[in-house]
Amino acid sequence: MNGIASSNICRIYKRIHLKSKVSTPSKKQTSIQALKQLQRRLPGRVWVGLKELEAASVDNLRISVIPDAVVKVAAEADVGVVLKLANQYKIPVTARGAGSSATGSAVPVCKGWVLDLSELKGIKLNPYSKIVTVGPGVTTEALQKKVAKAGLFYPPDPSSKKYSTIGGNIACNAGGMRCVKYGVTRDYVLGLEGYLANGSFVKWGLPLKKFVSGYNLKDLWIGSEGTLGIVTQAHLKLLPLPEKRWMGMFAFKNEQKALKLVANLLKAGVVPSLCEFLDRQSVLCAERFLNKPIFPGHSGVSILMIELDGSSDMIRANKKVLLELTKPSSLGFKEAKTEKASEDLLAIRRLCSQSMYAIADTKLNEDVVVPIEKQYELIRYTLELKKEIGLSTPTFGHAGDGNLHVHIMYNRSNKSDCTRAKQGILKLMKKVVELGGSITGEHGIGLAKSPFLKFQHSPEEIAAMQSIRKALDPKGILNPGKIFEPFQVWHHTPVETKMPWDH
Ligand SMILES: Cc1cc2nc3c(=O)[nH]c(=O)nc-3n(C[C@H](O)[C@H](O)[C@H](O)COP(=O)(O)OP(=O)(O)OC[C@H]3O[C@@H](n4cnc5c(N)ncnc54)[C@H](O)[C@@H]3O)c2cc1C
Repeated sequence: MNGIASSNICRIYKRIHLKSKVSTPSKKQTSIQALKQLQRRLPGRVWVGLKELEAASVDNLRISVIPDAVVKVAAEADVGVVLKLANQYKIPVTARGAGSSATGSAVPVCKGWVLDLSELKGIKLNPYSKIVTVGPGVTTEALQKKVAKAGLFYPPDPSSKKYSTIGGNIACNAGGMRCVKYGVTRDYVLGLEGYLANGSFVKWGLPLKKFVSGYNLKDLWIGSEGTLGIVTQAHLKLLPLPEKRWMGMFAFKNEQKALKLVANLLKAGVVPSLCEFLDRQSVLCAERFLNKPIFPGHSGVSILMIELDGSSDMIRANKKVLLELTKPSSLGFKEAKTEKASEDLLAIRRLCSQSMYAIADTKLNEDVVVPIEKQYELIRYTLELKKEIGLSTPTFGHAGDGNLHVHIMYNRSNKSDCTRAKQGILKLMKKVVELGGSITGEHGIGLAKSPFLKFQHSPEEIAAMQSIRKALDPKGILNPGKIFEPFQVWHHTPVETKMPWDH
């Protein structure tokens, strides 16, 4: 596995050192001493072999920085042990769940220790309150399956759910396909337990439906990408499992017609449980991959996938409105009446991401959000951008939330491609903010979005965030190098490594 270019590591490394005084090569002796103590305190839980270090060096951004050690904690209290030592010796600590982050937020860019929480897998359901208490290493899908057995529903649904962990979901405030009706991870977190950077144990809230005592640090931790504290337990709210689901997949001549339908549907008061959009570029990629048109006779259309859930009566009433609204503009539709048939339709949406690599070997994968009624304006802009920079901009995403995954496809070895990709992404981010949108809706900032933070926030806002970080982690040991340190992702060659979710 090739790592990040060493000169780049040093640049980041030095910058972080100046600001937060984390470990540097001159402190090598201290690092060795700290590691020895860690191995003594947590025997059998500390890995320094290349295989383990490589596996922990990378996430789905595929930029690799080899850490000094990986600690796989077996008990919550071990986290306190790790952090006390790290804080004492100023060792950078990067928390890790499954490493499925799309932004490099799980890459140990300043080296130090990777704190692997994937073995903390407890699940305890309170049958009275229907609140579930979960360890950070439980995967999203395992939790959903477990509570479904009790007729309950944990709605946050990132496409990575088979692998991603609850700890990672909380740290990134993960979304997914069902947010249009059910919201994001934050909407289900009632309380958190964990450790501060100095190794002190803290509880933000309890497994209660109401809790307003003191400042709400729980919500500060959610979405903080492991920079403000480490989650070791989460108390999560559950809903009753919806009685039924129905899904329709609709073809439209172009994106304007598809996105107008979304706006009209929401205006009519129908709240789908899933509302996924595919532009014509994405559909063409999927069709090339499948070697057949998705709607026979209508190749390269724009597609909407709409799921309705609830009681049979509710689904029937909403379906009627939906079909009436789509009738004048849709070129055709397919429906799924069973879970299996729905999964088959969703498989088309899921393969879009991989199928794009037929266009070019690298992508900038964004998760921008714009107001619902401005989604077409954004799509029109991606088409203008495509012409201007000469690179494909396939886009799909959660149209019910205005959250679109715009991709800029480029060939890494082509210098001109890299320059144009960079120009394109900077323009796109400025446009999103100009439209009243957000540079990220579910992936977070990590490394990949850090250059755009200044487009979204004023210097005063950024300074306020940094002062919170400093208050909770004065020595800057928790996931340094992320969010606030501008990182030029297009200057780095992604490593060729197979991740569990690659097909
Ligand atoms: C194929 C694919 C599809 C995806 N689809 C979606 C999607 O639909 N919606 C979406 O929102 N995201 C999606 N993602 C992004 C990613 O899966 C999510 O961000 C997920 O929440 C990360 O979980 P993880 O366990 O892999 O965390 P990791 O990648 O291991 O870590 C992510 C961040 O969380 C921090 N962290 C991890 N555990 C803890 C902890 N216990 N305490 C404190 N900090 C911690 C890490 O330091 C890092 O900053 C997708 C990714 C892939 C690869």
